Amino acid sequence: MSKEKISQLESLRAKSKREADLFFSLCENGQNFVESKKLKEALDHSGLKSNDNRLQSLFKRLEAHGDKIVFEDFISIIRTSGLLVEKALRGQLALPDFIDFSKNLDKIFDEVKKLKAGELASYIPPLAEVDPDQFGIAIVTIDGQIYQRGDSLKDFSIQSMCKPFNYCFAMEEIGLEKVHKHVGQEPSGRQFDDLTLLARTVSGNYTGEYAKDNLEGRFSRVPFNPMVNAGAIMTAGLINPEDSYTQRLRHIRQKFGGLIGWTADDSPSAEMPRFNKDMARQENFKGYNNIAMGYLLMATGSLPHTKTDLHKDIHPDEDEFDFYIEPAVTEALKLYFSICSLEMTATDVAMAAATLANSGVCPISQNRVLSQKTVRNCLPVLQTSGMYNASGTFFQEVGLPAKSGVGGGVLLVVPQLMGVCIFSPRLDQQGNSVRGIEMAKRLTSKYLVHTFDGTMTDTSRLDPKLPIARWLANSCGEAIWAASNGNIRTLESLVSQQRDLQTGDYDIRTPLHLASAEGQFEVVKFLLDHGVKPIPDRWGGYPISDARNNNHKKIVDLFEKLDIKYTEPFHLVENPKGKTDKIAKFDDELMVIELLFAATENNVDNIRHLVAKGVPVNAGDYDMRTALHLAAAEGSLEAVEYLVSHGHPLNVRDRWGATPLDEAKREKRKSVVEFLVKYKF
Ligand code: GLU
Repeated sequence: MSKEKISQLESLRAKSKREADLFFSLCENGQNFVESKKLKEALDHSGLKSNDNRLQSLFKRLEAHGDKIVFEDFISIIRTSGLLVEKALRGQLALPDFIDFSKNLDKIFDEVKKLKAGELASYIPPLAEVDPDQFGIAIVTIDGQIYQRGDSLKDFSIQSMCKPFNYCFAMEEIGLEKVHKHVGQEPSGRQFDDLTLLARTVSGNYTGEYAKDNLEGRFSRVPFNPMVNAGAIMTAGLINPEDSYTQRLRHIRQKFGGLIGWTADDSPSAEMPRFNKDMARQENFKGYNNIAMGYLLMATGSLPHTKTDLHKDIHPDEDEFDFYIEPAVTEALKLYFSICSLEMTATDVAMAAATLANSGVCPISQNRVLSQKTVRNCLPVLQTSGMYNASGTFFQEVGLPAKSGVGGGVLLVVPQLMGVCIFSPRLDQQGNSVRGIEMAKRLTSKYLVHTFDGTMTDTSRLDPKLPIARWLANSCGEAIWAASNGNIRTLESLVSQQRDLQTGDYDIRTPLHLASAEGQFEVVKFLLDHGVKPIPDRWGGYPISDARNNNHKKIVDLFEKLDIKYTEPFHLVENPKGKTDKIAKFDDELMVIELLFAATENNVDNIRHLVAKGVPVNAGDYDMRTALHLAAAEGSLEAVEYLVSHGHPLNVRDRWGATPLDEAKREKRKSVVEFLVKYKF
């Protein structure tokens, strides 16, 4: 990069470092503009969609603007979407490494797709006749990033997935206490359509608001919870019971619309779930069990109804009489059947689940649809009872609030992170989608999203809230820096956290190497006493070589006493007396290690995020290794190109004097060697 261009950049930084860093992360070769397509590409990689409402004014301005965006315009354009774009560019959205996450999910999806086990729901034709091979997944984060795969935009019957939402709607209208007067919060341990009710112990001294309705304040026999059929019929019955069926159904569709991004300004039905009337009629026709349940709830007195007197006999002179069916029962059932017969896509359901994950605010419309309290009260019941009689096993294994439906959908809520919906209509014995359950299991075995994972140190599973490079940096960085600075306290605390002190970095440099290089005798002893074994680094060098090269005799003696055959490292340094460029220092050491891991992994998005956060491209670690050394050694050509085009100097030298070109040559990275040689001359 020319001196003149560097000083342009410096003057921008002087105005506003934060904004200049953002701008710089996107412009190449020291240009003083960002190409519009680079900004669009960065947004796309962040998982935000071009049809996202929050980005519409930004895209309009981009269309009106030419291809080249200068600094002042760039800042005013990205500000049209509040902090959203800035967060996306800095890798600070809920899933910071969206591309890596998507790749992992794609892999899981392709494996699970091979499963053909299970049967379609057969109790009514509209469910028995769907294409059994359909398979889709959608994930929506609380920041509105969207992952979609397979049949993620096909409508299907939500069936029991409506239950947590009915429960929320009822709570929004009459409050938790009133709802639970009519329905319990206890896992049933039974089939979803079981007719058994929860027998409550009711204390006789209840004097609260509802005491007038019934002496104990609560009904003594109620559905176990809102996630079994009985409970869902009950919660449906609690939603606006005074209104007509049509008004109630419309109200519920609007509420669902709100959960999936519908706003009052939109055309009335655009974003509302479709109602499949034929499905509802069939549910009614074959719903003997549910109808029985409705009457049972009436018999216990817990279903809300207005007591009416027996009508006058309209057949006074015949043996005929007008058969009475309680309207409160039929209305609750009719509404329940109808809500089960709403149709949504996996993307819609994932959005609704993401609204739950986001404590009631729809990630896309940013409207509050449910109160925080409602969501907070719904999720525990969903977690303990959402998967019927398999809820306990599911909780232990997957550890997430979840709900399935016989239409083949499974929704999962990862609180404060994302909503997931998997759709595949073949069901297992319990009525859960076979592929849905398998996807859910694999998701938690890959990612630390189980409610009780806490801060696991198991590096074979990933934290989706961290970029992979950061995850790797965390697994070794702290220990290596502590060892190199002689900080035994930190090492002790890492030991009690059961961290592996033998884990190496991108060069397989371990705490023992750095302690030896820096003459930290006590640390070396501490590590050896804790069972850490010396292992060779990228170049075949053991810690003993570090101690020798730096004349730390006492440490050399320690290693010589061990019964190990040490090999000598091979470092290629073609021109040790050649030009040497400056390596930058950066205070946040873990961010530097993250940058070097990102370069190793050829993860250009991650490198760009770090640059946008202000990490200098040429920051060096404890061995004076830089991102370019690593990208060159690993043959990560895209990363090499990005770094060089963002001003990474070529003649940086590591602890042993090697430049990135030396590294590319030693590892025989032909395309990187060609690129660097061409760039140099
Ligand atoms: N409509 C179905 C029923 O009430 C829903 C069952 C389910 O999805 O689990 O039987």
